Amino acid sequence: MSELLSALDDVTEADLAELSPDALLDFVSGLVTATNRVTAVLTSAVRAADRREAYRRDGAVSMKAWLRGSCRMAPAEATATVSTGRRLEQLPATAAAFAEGAISATHARVITRAMTPGRIAKAADAGIDLHETDSILADLARATAPNETARGVAQWVAGVDPDGTLEDAADTRRRFTMASGLGGRVHLRGELDAVGGEYLRTALGALMNGDRPVGDARSHAERQGDALVELARRSLDAGGLPSVRGERPHVRVTIDLMALCAERGAAGSAGGSLGWAGPINPETARRLACDAGVSRVITGPSGLPLDTGREQRAPSAGIRRATEIRDEHCVFAGCDAPPEWCDFHHVVHWAHGGPTSCDNGALLCERHHTSCHEGGFGIARDPGTGRWHTYRPDGTEILSRAGP
Ligand SMILES: [Zn+2]
Ligand SMILES: [Zn+2]
Repeated sequence: MSELLSALDDVTEADLAELSPDALLDFVSGLVTATNRVTAVLTSAVRAADRREAYRRDGAVSMKAWLRGSCRMAPAEATATVSTGRRLEQLPATAAAFAEGAISATHARVITRAMTPGRIAKAADAGIDLHETDSILADLARATAPNETARGVAQWVAGVDPDGTLEDAADTRRRFTMASGLGGRVHLRGELDAVGGEYLRTALGALMNGDRPVGDARSHAERQGDALVELARRSLDAGGLPSVRGERPHVRVTIDLMALCAERGAAGSAGGSLGWAGPINPETARRLACDAGVSRVITGPSGLPLDTGREQRAPSAGIRRATEIRDEHCVFAGCDAPPEWCDFHHVVHWAHGGPTSCDNGALLCERHHTSCHEGGFGIARDPGTGRWHTYRPDGTEILSRAGP
């Protein structure tokens, strides 16, 4: 192991800027092979530890639990590594291709996930030779990308288990994980049974297509992502979700009052934080606080709360309604997003003394609300004409193509 690590040190120290484009590409493809080989060894070692129940020495209940706890591996990855290792024992050709570095962990996973014990037994009953199947799929994986390998695997599955009764149709398991990535971004992953998927598609479809503005240029994936967030927001707003520890579920943003009241981009201003995602920048905290109920918590020098209170910064139904009637849609130049998609933006933030009034309010869709807070864009309503103007961060006006 120490030799492997010192070899990695050498590779790490390579001066990439020195390499010619060809040499750089060779370097990358060599690293892909090396990564595959290391992952293959990891998978075998995990299998060996799994078989010998080595994890019990550390008080873990399973190898998967040990990988999560002691190696900080993501749950889905831990499950995949353990299960791939187990199944590869019966698939020597695939295991060999993996060990050589010719196929990736994803290839191995595509094959092993389909080769369930139930299907292997059924294939044996039907006289299909497992070793031959293993060789064919390993060769396919050597030659193709994982999604294409998956098509070959699906053909084998269709031959062995044509009605899918063995695993898929009877499989009503639902899994869904959310992992926090860099910058608080959240990665979603999971699978649903057919019926569960139908519920989700129907709900998302209604939000995606129900009031889609003219000229909406978002991709299908972007619209689906927006619809998923909207589904959650509406459920929270509707108040029909079960209370948790006596409190209605809500999104909690914590920000220091000084940071909230600081001017945009003020040096050294601390950000806020979200309950799950952790730290967010002060502009995002200001945007979330722009249209929200606010609790004040005064903390003493030790950081313990001394006093709490609640203030209403979200507009009353009447103010919101009046603003909707006046603005009709998101007021950002060129945007037609309907009122239901919009936040109530305080043109002068309440933290800077702006009132929660129709006069100081503006409808902004979530995207453009973000543009105004985090992106440095600005909007202003001409008191004479009543028309909204949008300004870029450099102060120049965006002239809507549809406008005069
Ligand atoms: Zn705002
Ligand atoms: Zn908009």
